[in-house]
Amino acid sequence: MAKKKKPITKMQCGTCKEVNYFTKKTKQVEGKLAFKKHCSTCRKHTDHKEGKK
Ligand SMILES: [Zn+2]
Repeated sequence: MAKKKKPITKMQCGTCKEVNYFTKKTKQVEGKLAFKKHCSTCRKHTDHKEGKK
């Protein structure tokens, strides 16, 4: 059984640019993703944006 490759999107902290999260991009989402997530580097909640491929 061959596994299909699913596109994984990196979520980068907007403050320190650290990649903290990965998400699967759905077809419904267009453009840049942004999540408010906790960053272990900044030690606070920051905006995480879709990283460059
Ligand atoms: Zn950070």
